[in-house]
Amino acid sequence: MERVFNFNAGPAVLPLEVLAKAQKELLNYNNTGMSVLESSHRSKAYEEINSQAEALIKELLSIPDNYRVLFLQGGASTQFAAVPLNLVKPGSHADYILTGTWAEKAYKEAGKFADVRVAASSKEENYTRIPGLAEIKLSESPVYVHLCSNNTIFGTQWQEFPDLNVPIVADMSSDILSRSFDVSKFALIYAGAQKNLGPAGVTVVIVRQDILESIPETIPTMLRYDIHAKNDSLYNTPPCFSVYMVNLVLQWLKEHGGLEAAEKRNAEKAALIYQTIDVSSGFYRGHALKDSRSLMNITFRLPDEDLEKRFVAEATAQGMVGLKGHRSVGGIRASVYNAMSLEGCETLAGFMAEFQRKNG
Ligand code: PMP
Repeated sequence: MERVFNFNAGPAVLPLEVLAKAQKELLNYNNTGMSVLESSHRSKAYEEINSQAEALIKELLSIPDNYRVLFLQGGASTQFAAVPLNLVKPGSHADYILTGTWAEKAYKEAGKFADVRVAASSKEENYTRIPGLAEIKLSESPVYVHLCSNNTIFGTQWQEFPDLNVPIVADMSSDILSRSFDVSKFALIYAGAQKNLGPAGVTVVIVRQDILESIPETIPTMLRYDIHAKNDSLYNTPPCFSVYMVNLVLQWLKEHGGLEAAEKRNAEKAALIYQTIDVSSGFYRGHALKDSRSLMNITFRLPDEDLEKRFVAEATAQGMVGLKGHRSVGGIRASVYNAMSLEGCETLAGFMAEFQRKNG
């Protein structure tokens, strides 16, 4: 069978070159006579993978020296708890900006054991947009303000990160490494790998070093950033193969021009689909308002649900899979992460135009 164009939201498409390299190295990694799947996490071979991956993320994102990059387990969802446990001390509190399901989940989880407040929300408008700077009402001296940079389900994305004079904590699960930004605005960034970074199983945390100096002793060891940082993400057995795959994806990204080139490709790819929506005279209706559109997850509706079902079925028959939208938005979602090719987006845009011609 031919490979399909995979528009899944995550786990998502990986670069073919990366998969081919992993296949080639699967039985005998770097002359070790064994697979990475079989290697000790204390071996020289794995330690090199681990440190190379940290160095590559630092290089690609131009991360200042006072940050650490950690490879953890438990998905982004574990970070919803780890962040407030590590950062919000008794008597202090944090602010959350609600822009979608995942931001809401982070807020609710934090609320189980920390004082958290909502600084802005677009829930009333079914999360069609990112709140403007004037709408963000910070509380007095929050420890951090939490935001979700790209809302995977609703298809909205922060176009620019606000200057809030408060450390920002961001869930960047669905757009990390898709564009460049100033890391120094952030106290902490986390991202599940399974969209832009690699396969599921590893979560990347980028944390400013001063935070590591005042972590409460009472929180569970496996949730403590200082423990993982001190042990270079090797406190316990890490998800070795996932980290190995992330390292290959990072190498691929670097070979293809780094973040600047990725950002350009992503803008070009998404524009093909948004343009098709915009010239459709309302046949396709984007969920996100134009100034909040995501370059990673493109969400839209058709005139009725029957047409949406047919759209998905016919696209699948033509080798474009994973297009069914999340149930809270309905319709269609095309996830076009770094590894989605321009050809995949051209094929989808062409299919959309033809589908409208036949059914519009
Ligand atoms: N945050 C965002 C923005 C997501 O898209 C997702 C998963 N789709 C999560 C958090 C949850 O990630 P995980 O499944 O790794 O816990």
